[in-house]
Amino acid sequence: MKHVPLLINGEFISSQSDQQIEVTNPANNEVIAKVPCATSNEMEVAIASAKEAFTTWRNVAVPERARLMMRYQALLKEHHDEIAKILSKETGKTFDDAKGDVWRGIEVVEQAMNIPALLMGETVENVARGIDTYSYIQPLGVCAGITPFNFPAMIPLWMFPLAIAAGNTFVLKPSEQDPLTPTRLAELFLEAGAPKGVLNVVHGGAQQVDHLLTHPDIKAVSFVGSVPVGQHIYKTATSHMKRAQCFAGAKNHSVIMPDANKAQVLNSLVGASVGAAGQRCMAISVAVFVGEAKNWIPELAEMIAKVKPGLWNDKEAGYGPLISPKARDRVLSLIAQGKAEGASCLVDGSGFTVPGYEKGNWVGPTVFADVTDDMSIYKEEIFGPVLCCMSVDSLEEAIALVNRNPFGNGTSIFTANGAAARKYQHEIEVGQVGINVPIPVPLPFFSFTGWKNSFYGDLHAYGKQAVRFYTETKTVTSRWFEDDIPHGPNMTISLR
Ligand code: NAD
Repeated sequence: MKHVPLLINGEFISSQSDQQIEVTNPANNEVIAKVPCATSNEMEVAIASAKEAFTTWRNVAVPERARLMMRYQALLKEHHDEIAKILSKETGKTFDDAKGDVWRGIEVVEQAMNIPALLMGETVENVARGIDTYSYIQPLGVCAGITPFNFPAMIPLWMFPLAIAAGNTFVLKPSEQDPLTPTRLAELFLEAGAPKGVLNVVHGGAQQVDHLLTHPDIKAVSFVGSVPVGQHIYKTATSHMKRAQCFAGAKNHSVIMPDANKAQVLNSLVGASVGAAGQRCMAISVAVFVGEAKNWIPELAEMIAKVKPGLWNDKEAGYGPLISPKARDRVLSLIAQGKAEGASCLVDGSGFTVPGYEKGNWVGPTVFADVTDDMSIYKEEIFGPVLCCMSVDSLEEAIALVNRNPFGNGTSIFTANGAAARKYQHEIEVGQVGINVPIPVPLPFFSFTGWKNSFYGDLHAYGKQAVRFYTETKTVTSRWFEDDIPHGPNMTISLR
């Protein structure tokens, strides 16, 4: 039985906590590790270590900080498959999908390698006679990250590399459901040469998170997870005068115009809806068919019905089990509600299981048609392999439907008509839009820009926005006198 350690002040240590959470293999619910809920004292020591490390780390030359990221990127690439294997075993993700999770995290580290350019300020010479103004971008101090279960490599890597490259130190609290992957990421970060205290990893749940949110030495909090927790974290962190960025739940619509390329639409929707067991914040969970495109629903349902869930190393498996029995029960309950509320269940994955792994958290692919916006399966984020199909008569109606939805993480439109695509991208109130691209997750030189109830805060993850989130701007106005001639007092606010 593996006991997950804490990382405090450059050392992996066993927690003294008597509270341990079981980490399970979602394919059979066997316990594979135990993760501690860090004690209050351990939380204090972790934060103090990050605070102490900040005093020296902030002064390390920026190219040297970039070189740490280069060494880290090389190590992550070298250990890519090994990390993906750990990830698969604790999340149930198929090996290929796990590799994608690791890879998308590595891409953010590559962005952090570029930190000198990202930290450039602005200058204007002669803002007044002999006076120059220039700005510097400086780190905040100790930052904290709280991450969800569904991307245990990518989402921690959204946070600590850029924060640390910018000169901050970091305390990470990964999901208690899959802490082994983030632990491996932290081991490799030390191996890359991260000085002690620059990255600390604590474990636990709500209590440990609240410790971070209310601690005066934490300057900024980055969170990814569900809506209720995101709202709690945003309110608590900001009421304790911290910066916060909280990425929350989603309900992502794909709008299918009748002029779209049918084969491309159907192929795209299969993976985007039930891939990763629907446990992606950018999964397409609602397909909105415009006009005659609704005739494609039965064929789509047939294709989705053929997707087989299976074990992480089963090459035929389209996706794995859900993360926990609780997650599975919740999805099954929503499928039952969908049927009870009158949606047509074209493919029903409720009874699915994998022979020999009957205790796993399996849900087969599920497709509903005739879904309306008053049904629970439409209103709730299902976070399972369930696609809701809806039909509307026009693009305008589709846009109004998507805009009424309280979430705004991602959306896509499939069409052959540039004007329809242009109208959609312009009018839609969603932060990430795909045009003939089902899951439009931006690469890290852009930012991950969810809107509405999918995001609480101002500055988003990765890209230039994340650098702004983890830094302060200092603006200097400077004059050097060339002579000793007294200019007399200046009684105005103007520079002269
Ligand atoms: P979750 O909200 O249950 O947990 C996220 C983190 O918050 C975990 O580290 C957990 O320990 C902590 N936490 C849980 N309850 C808490 C509480 N009461 N107080 C303080 N902290 C608490 O989310 P999850 O189930 O791990 O992840 C799935 C959710 O994350 C989905 O809703 C999904 O849409 C969302 N998500 C969003 C994005 C995005 O970018 N918008 C990305 C990935 C996942």
